[in-house]
Amino acid sequence: ASPLVVAVSTALSAKQGLLIRNRVNFENARQIDTVVFDKTGTLTKGEFGVTDIIPNETSEEEILQLAASVEQKSEHPIAEGIVHAAEEREITLKNIENFSSSTGEGIEGQVDGQTIKVVSPKYVQENSINFDQDSFNQLSDQGKTVVFVLLDQQLMGMIALADIIKDEAKEAVKLLKDAGIQPVMLTGDHQKVANWVSKQIGIDEVHAEVLPDHKANHIKEIQSKKQRVAMTGDGINDAPALATADLGIAIGAGTDVAMETADVVLVQSNPKDVVSLIDLSKKTYRKMV
Ligand code: ADP
Ligand code: MG
Repeated sequence: ASPLVVAVSTALSAKQGLLIRNRVNFENARQIDTVVFDKTGTLTKGEFGVTDIIPNETSEEEILQLAASVEQKSEHPIAEGIVHAAEEREITLKNIENFSSSTGEGIEGQVDGQTIKVVSPKYVQENSINFDQDSFNQLSDQGKTVVFVLLDQQLMGMIALADIIKDEAKEAVKLLKDAGIQPVMLTGDHQKVANWVSKQIGIDEVHAEVLPDHKANHIKEIQSKKQRVAMTGDGINDAPALATADLGIAIGAGTDVAMETADVVLVQSNPKDVVSLIDLSKKTYRKMV
């Protein structure tokens, strides 16, 4: 592009809250026909609030105490929700040793030689840990994310959390569809939660329970069908997918890793700006030819 066109489109993009990091990939955004969105923190605010605690053993208070003690070491939006709930109930947290996290699966740490884990439904299923399936179904059918609290591999209880869908997510999806661009949702969360959220937003193609390492593979698979793919995400777990996509778009409020990997950053964290971005690249192209 000519220096003048670059200058004009840079000014325009800055005004619209788009931080362009890779000029060439931005200019090619006009060819994008599929936009993949991460769920948590991208289509939703990633502000989880605890809605239900279902004890298996012990009390609600102790379940929250165990979970929050480990979660205080995590930066995941689920962790913030659980720690906040414990604070509200004025629960004193325990000191945790040997903390570790396994992205997309959960976290663990030790207290007095006992291991506390806060994990995904997939983890408990794979480890054949029994839980109240009816309560779980009921909660996740309402779009709530459920995590399981284990003490030495024994189930203490479940904690359900609700996130808030961004108002602009629904509008973004409608505008994309109107422009003939296919929206897709890619998430590490459970299938039922993914289905509920995608239905609210109007996304028909959903890939759920995708482990962080596999997000990039899903992008490659869509690309292999000759589609030009943009990936939009906020987390560390999205970085490989952002790098693999034809256009990587990071949410401004997201992690540094996502922003450093992306071609464009949405400064306002507004999913609707994905549409503005594609429009702008089309306009820029018309000025170039
Ligand atoms: P997304 O792709 O929607 O951003 P993640 O890959 O970050 O989701 O997380 C996927 C799942 O892993 C969560 O739904 C949860 O079950 C589990 N998980 C991740 N981090 C934590 C945590 N700190 N505490 C409990 N569970 C977690
Ligand atoms: Mg996310």
